[in-house]
Order: sequence, then structure tokens, then C-alpha cells
Amino acid sequence: MKLCVVGTGYVGLVSCACFADLGNEVIGVDVDREKIEKLKRGVLPIYEPGLKELVDRNLGKRLSFTTDLGQGVQDSDFIFIAVGTPQGPTGEADLTYVKQVAAGIGRHLNGPKIVVDKSTVPVGMGDLVASIIEEQGSGKHPVNVVSNPEFLREGSAVHDFMNPDRILIGTDHGTAAEKVRELYAPLEANTMITDLRSAEMIKYASNAFLATKITFINEIANLCERVNADVAKVAHGMGLDTRISPAFLAAGAGYGGSCFPKDVSALIQIADKEDYDFRLLKAVVAVNEFQKRSVVTRIKEVLGPLEGKQIALLGLAYKSNTDDMREAVALEVSRLLLDGGARVRAYDPAAMDNARRLLPEVKLAENAYAAAEGAHCLVVLTEWNEFKEMDLGRVKAGMRTPIIVDGRNIFDPNKVKALGFTYRGVGRR
Ligand code: NAD
Repeated sequence: MKLCVVGTGYVGLVSCACFADLGNEVIGVDVDREKIEKLKRGVLPIYEPGLKELVDRNLGKRLSFTTDLGQGVQDSDFIFIAVGTPQGPTGEADLTYVKQVAAGIGRHLNGPKIVVDKSTVPVGMGDLVASIIEEQGSGKHPVNVVSNPEFLREGSAVHDFMNPDRILIGTDHGTAAEKVRELYAPLEANTMITDLRSAEMIKYASNAFLATKITFINEIANLCERVNADVAKVAHGMGLDTRISPAFLAAGAGYGGSCFPKDVSALIQIADKEDYDFRLLKAVVAVNEFQKRSVVTRIKEVLGPLEGKQIALLGLAYKSNTDDMREAVALEVSRLLLDGGARVRAYDPAAMDNARRLLPEVKLAENAYAAAEGAHCLVVLTEWNEFKEMDLGRVKAGMRTPIIVDGRNIFDPNKVKALGFTYRGVGRR
């Protein structure tokens, strides 16, 4: 099949590489010239495990990149929209890029097409995309719009794309649904075909539910600290119940990232527009903000005033195995530490380039041990395996005072204490 994927970010680039590897001819389109020039040379603009191998294997054969949307549209039967839908100023999804792409598709139509929306968009956007294309294309060529929300997780995006829990196809055109289903047939995944609007809602509802689950266990963790229970054991015990499942029950410093914060906000906005007060999600946002800030409260509790102290921050990406720092907890925590008069030296295995841009006041170290050198407190904000496997004896030898605030509960409190550290996790005994 011939595909064009518009937007070559985390979702778009992974889709390009995976669809090409499944045997399709794929053109990736982006407005970012520098990104496209790099991609043409096989240089990846993002870090994502396994992606480089897929791009290398298919580039110049079934996979190509261009900034020319017209070429992408005209050479393809399916056009995937995978551009960003960031949070707008009042919390709603900013749909500027999706609308731009829809207008561009309409202008360049040269025959019947299936337009597949992979970007996360508010309910009703599929209909708007269809009407923009119709208007710009003067209705000369038939176009079916399909919603196909993406559920991959950064850090395991290639694996998730190739092994999805489900493929969701939302459209009001039966034949378009079947054609999109065929595209995914090699994955042999559970496929659900539904109407356009329900598909759009499933994506927001899923992300909002996961954000709520994380937030729930974070509240339980905060309570565990007060009643001297251990949230790791509580979560394990809860997760044994198949109705609950152990996923998304790791208490910590709150969620960040490119999806949960903006998607929860967007769903609140969608509800507000319908005069429905989504009280539960508003509480989720408030608790998550509290949880992020509470890392600094924990630091102060074990360290005292921040003024003049040196803090080692381990983990700047919003989660492990990615370089993505969008809405990362480290951004908020660094700002609060610096405002409090502390000096911050940080390290992340993949996000250093983004950190240089986003955290200019934070000193960056070349590894975790260098970050800890001379520090009064070591703070873990991302659950990278590299940190779990550190030689804590070596870390302690370099620190000024042996204090660990573990915002992701990656260490065993007893082992760390036995090494002579003062340890503070989230919800641990
Ligand atoms: P991203 O910011 O990494 O990439 C977006 C890309 O679109 C950028 O390269 C940008 O240059 C390009 N772009 C913007 N306007 C364009 C235009 N008019 N024409 C061509 N290209 C254009 O975004 P992302 O993280 O890949 O997310 C894309 C969508 O997928 C969002 O709606 C997001 O909510 C959703 N999503 C993301 C994830 C994730 O883990 N990142 C998971 C599931 C769904």
C-alpha cells in the first residue's frame, strides 16, 4: 500500500518506520526542514529504542522523507495525520497543525484518499477535518476520514506499534474501515471498528483513566506515609486483583510527559464546553501538581533549608527510555530548587540535548556519579535502569551528605539505609 504520514515526531516517525517495515511504501512529511534533512541521511531527531534499525533497514527502499506535502498526498492512497496537538493557553487542545494539514491535503488532492487521523483530537475533529478537506478540495475527489488513535508509549514505541493491545478504527464509512484494517492485518491484533466520535473519545478516556490511576496510587502513597504502611506492598496487593491489574500502580513524583497532562486538560475543556463539570479530572490535575511539588517538600524535610545546598538530579526525561522532556517533573522540581537557593547538577542518559535547551540554569554532569559529586542530596526523578544499577557505595563516597530522595521508588529502602544513607521515597515505610 502507499502511505503518507504527515508529522515525523514520536508517533509519526515510528508509524513511518513500522509501516515501511511491514512492506508498505511510506513517505514521511514534516514542515521542519532540519528534521527532514536529518531523516534523509538516516539521522534520528529523537531517541527511541529500536527505531534507528527500522529506519536504516527501510530508508531509500520503502521509506522516504520530504517537506513537500503535495508529493506525499499525490503519491499515496492513505494519508496519516500525526502532527502535534499541544495544550492551548486555556487547557484545550491546540488544533492549528491538524487544521493546516487538513487544508493542505484538500488543496493537493488528485484522486480518492483515505485520511487517517492518528493525532489525539477532541471529539468532532474528524468531522471538521473532513469538511476542511472538502472545502479546500472543492469536493472534486471523495475522501473518507478515519480516526485511528495511537496508543504507543514513548520508550517502547516500536514494540507497542508492532504489538498493540488493540487497533482502534473509527469511521462512519464501512469500506474505509476495512481498508485501514487491512493495513494492520500483519500485526494480527485485536481490532475494534467503531464510529468516528467514539474512537476520538476512547483515546482521551483511556489516557485520562491512566492518569487517574497513577494519581490515585499517589494519594494512597501520601496516606501510607502518615499511617506507616508501605505503598509498594499496598500496590502489589491491589494489583493481584485482576479487576485492578498491577499496571500504573507505581507511586511517585507525579506524571508528566507529552500526553497525560495535555489530554487530561483537553478532556476537562471538552466537558466544560458541554456545560459538564468533570470534577474527578479537575481533582486529578490538582493532586498531580501537588505531587510534583511534594518532591521538594520531601527534600526539605530531610535536608533542611535549600539555600546554598547542592542537589544532584537524576533523570530529566519524563520517563525512562526516552529523551522527551515535555512536561517532565524535572522541569518543575528544578525550578523550585533553584528558586529556593539551591544549586542543581543533573544527569539523564538520553535527554541531555533537550536539557541544555530547557534548563539553561542547571549544570549538567556527564554521568550519575559526576552529578552526585559534592551533593548534599541525590534526587531520582526518572526510573532509568542505569540508576537502579548504580554502585551506591561509590555514590555515597562522593557526596557531601548521604541523603537520597527517591521520587520513583527505585531503591529498596532497607538496602539504601544499610549503606548509611538517609532515604526518603514516596509512600515507603
Ligand atoms: P511531536 O511533537 O513529537 O511531532 C509532531 C511533528 O509534527 C513535528 O515533527 C512537527 O514539526 C510536525 N508538524 C507540525 N505541523 C506540521 C504540518 N503542518 N505539516 C507537517 N508536519 C507538521 O508529536 P508526537 O508526540 O508525535 O504527537 C503527535 C500526536 O500523537 C499528538 O496528537 C499526540 O497527542 C499523539 N500521541 C502521542 C503519543 C506520544 O507518546 N508521543 C502517543 C499517542 C498519541
